[in-house]
Amino acid sequence: MSPTIPPLAGKLGALQSSVIRDLLKLTARAEVISLAGGLPDAELMPRERIAAAAAAALAGPGCLQYTESPGWAPLRDVLAARESVRLGRTVRAEEVFVTHGSQQALSLLAEVLLDPGALVVVEDPAYIGALQVFRAAGARIVALPMDAEGMRVDLLAELLAAGERPAVVHTVSNFHNPGGVTMSPVRRRALAELADAHGFWVIEDDPYGELWFDRPSPDPVATYSRNVIRLSSSSKIIAPTLRVGWMVAPPSVFRGVELLKQGADLCGSALTQQIAADLLADETWLAAHIDTVRDAYGTRAKALVHALRERFGDRLVSTDAAGGMFVWADFADGTDTKALLPRALDAGVAYVPGSAFAATTGHESALRLCFTTSDPATLAAAVDRLARAVEAQSAQS
Ligand code: PMP
Repeated sequence: MSPTIPPLAGKLGALQSSVIRDLLKLTARAEVISLAGGLPDAELMPRERIAAAAAAALAGPGCLQYTESPGWAPLRDVLAARESVRLGRTVRAEEVFVTHGSQQALSLLAEVLLDPGALVVVEDPAYIGALQVFRAAGARIVALPMDAEGMRVDLLAELLAAGERPAVVHTVSNFHNPGGVTMSPVRRRALAELADAHGFWVIEDDPYGELWFDRPSPDPVATYSRNVIRLSSSSKIIAPTLRVGWMVAPPSVFRGVELLKQGADLCGSALTQQIAADLLADETWLAAHIDTVRDAYGTRAKALVHALRERFGDRLVSTDAAGGMFVWADFADGTDTKALLPRALDAGVAYVPGSAFAATTGHESALRLCFTTSDPATLAAAVDRLARAVEAQSAQS
């Protein structure tokens, strides 16, 4: 008799694998220039400096031990000092919680803040990792469009006026993944005021804020309200492998996250947290390192945007890429980017179709392009290939 297979939890039915992770399998072919991944450039990661910090940490036994659930205390001190500068107030170490990348912060916060069916407002297009977390929590998700100034906070005000009561509003305030835009200071203030007036949490998810190219990113939304939980990460400025993210959160949230972190993994890695503390405290070195990353990404971003505008003109509307890792582009003539993808792969270029980032539907004519891992000549070649794919598609239809 064949065994009866036990069921999985019902909530799994609602989950989808990330389209991007599935796509990355297809684009791994050597001849394809992939602008699909969302990876920082490993060549720019400070291997020698990390090795030195690892050697220093390993000189003692402490880095091999369990550490506190909210993070290794000296790392929290370093992060509190950095966040104090960012937020323009004294952030105490007790407000800083270290997580396994900021992705874990999202997942712990969803458990702490959301009951099944709770309303979560996200940006449209949305960060897929946030959608996955909020879906897993059984949230009701409403996606608000963005324009050049970021989330349409006026539409959030309309939702609230209509009686909707979000538990959480999630925003990627700087150099949005995938939308490429940065929320304007006026909208930041307006969002914070709404959060205070209506009593909802804002998760300000900010892994890209330090990767600005021409001018520093605006003051965080968290500057304006204590209802904002601010997330950041060392993944894009140092290396994702450290899995060091952090949040600045008020005491009630902190306590909830601490309880759930104990259940999730007891604590993070003392070794990588000591390495991160060493690098983040070395201000002169870090400033120079981040400058190098900014310079390289800025040059690549400009090369990509230039090639897109030269090749496609008005046919493709793209963001300016003032920072971060992505350009978001939209075909004005409605070209279906999901249908185009097989041709693009044949022509030797990969991207992520915009529809992958939709909370429900939409963005069929958009695409996300990541410029971090290709040099300017390769980016220009990628755009040529994309243009060839578009021509081939038009010739056929
Ligand atoms: N938030 C956003 C908006 C991201 O783009 C990413 C990484 N792709 C994360 C959070 C998670 O990053 P990490 O866990 O490496 O800190």
